[in-house]
Amino acid sequence: AKQQGRDRFNYFAPFMQEASRARVALANELRDALCGDQLRVLFQPIVELDSGRIRKAEALVRWQHPTRGLLGPADFITIAEHTGAIVGIGDWVFRQAARHAKRMQQLHDPDFQVAVNNSAWQFREGGSNFGEWLDFLDEIQLHPRSVIIEVKESLLLEANHEVGRKLQALHEAEIQLSLDDFGTGYCSVAFLKRYNLDFLKIDPAFFTNLADGADGGAICAAMVGLAHKMGIQIIAEGLETAANMRTLRDAGCDFGQGYLFSRPLSGEELASLMGSVDKS
Ligand code: C2E
Ligand code: CA
Ligand code: CA
Ligand code: CA
Repeated sequence: AKQQGRDRFNYFAPFMQEASRARVALANELRDALCGDQLRVLFQPIVELDSGRIRKAEALVRWQHPTRGLLGPADFITIAEHTGAIVGIGDWVFRQAARHAKRMQQLHDPDFQVAVNNSAWQFREGGSNFGEWLDFLDEIQLHPRSVIIEVKESLLLEANHEVGRKLQALHEAEIQLSLDDFGTGYCSVAFLKRYNLDFLKIDPAFFTNLADGADGGAICAAMVGLAHKMGIQIIAEGLETAANMRTLRDAGCDFGQGYLFSRPLSGEELASLMGSVDKS
């Protein structure tokens, strides 16, 4: 058994070293990505279910890597968090998103909002300087309520002082707060009462199981009703089928996002999509 254990070790050691070498390389390259103009932001439309109109979009980061091709967040966000690069990336995505929201408001819809994903790291000591974010909004004359900050349940559960202080400051500045991936963790709608949430994004995992059952719609409707009483609007994400969309709309869901409506688009594509709707 001992011999076998050693063999296994010998077999895996080079593999492990290879994997971490790749991670170190990627971490170094990520440092250059920002200055090297290699990051991109895509925008996925968020549709008002009653009217079918695009009212918002979620900013999703991509890395156009010089040799590895187009990388998604799953390929580099964790590394960015561990090296601290996430703060610079987060600042950059925020500014791109805010600029684009300003443009959409001028061209198409004065109430257009943009949603930006945030890592817990950005809320911790040494994280994002949200004061600078507000200064930037002031500079481009975009009202803070045009920006929705998406956070994950784990951030709310962290409940440390710095996180709480930053959430409160954003709320006071009238930046909107949205809870991402609802239904994949432990939070109940009632628990959310203590946070100043404006939106709840329900994960496809929450409704795919429900939608089949006879009570699925009723359970969704109860959840949506409770959220509405608390002043929280609901965005259903990952919508791929018209059947799911109808179930959620009939349950009172306010907005939907997913391949049913559109994949994530470049800023140009989103602008022309909204333009074509304006003309119709
Ligand atoms: P998320 O916030 O839950 O974003 C939704 C993800 O689902 C996106 O993947 C989107 O492209 C994908 N998606 C949209 N519609 C559908 C659909 O109908 N079906 C399916 N199966 N998927 C759909 P993406 O762009 O790869 O982003 C993955 C995650 O990376 C995001 O999950 C978010 O947590 C994170 N992320 C993205 N951009 C940023 C960023 O700028 N900063 C940070 N910290 N995280 C980001
Ligand atoms: Ca999100
Ligand atoms: Ca608020
Ligand atoms: Ca999500």
